[in-house]
Amino acid sequence: MMRRQELDVLHESIRNCRLCPLHETRLNAVPGEGPYDARVLLIGEAPGAREDELGRPFVGRSGELLTHMIESIGLTRDEVFITSVLKSRPPNNRTPTKSEIEMCRPYVEKQIELVNPRVVVLLGGVAISSMVGPWSVSESHGQFFEAKGRTFFMTYHPAAALRFPKVKTLMAADFRILRSGLL
Ligand code: SF4
Repeated sequence: MMRRQELDVLHESIRNCRLCPLHETRLNAVPGEGPYDARVLLIGEAPGAREDELGRPFVGRSGELLTHMIESIGLTRDEVFITSVLKSRPPNNRTPTKSEIEMCRPYVEKQIELVNPRVVVLLGGVAISSMVGPWSVSESHGQFFEAKGRTFFMTYHPAAALRFPKVKTLMAADFRILRSGLL
């Protein structure tokens, strides 16, 4: 099967997934979207209310800010692949549990394998601790990290940047570091 078709099949499985209890409360699972051969793949935490309604990643205010950050490094949103660690919304946007993350992790790992991006950008503490290690975002942001034969880059979640202007400034600086790493 071609990579693009494999990704479509994977996303169909995610839409129908009932592996963890989050399937009972979600409206729509949110597999993620973007080109099957994107150079940059970004991973957030989990869908929020708007994403759950529409079945698309980062479509609320966080999404607007993320789009702005992506454009600040000379890419368009259509050129990157965007997804999250969890594909179904936790009720009231609570933090994902360890077991939900473990259940859902094979999906994001398969997406990384299929898209095979040059850099995997981890947005926020949940993405960082789920994908590379038990680091806080404040000590690891702005850094590249090689693991499992991949290059990861760590930064803040746009929702945190919306809440705290200082975080927004730090995140913008991180994206400039990311841009130099992509040249
Ligand atoms: S969060 Fe992941 S594992 Fe849980 S139901 Fe949704 S797709 Fe399945």
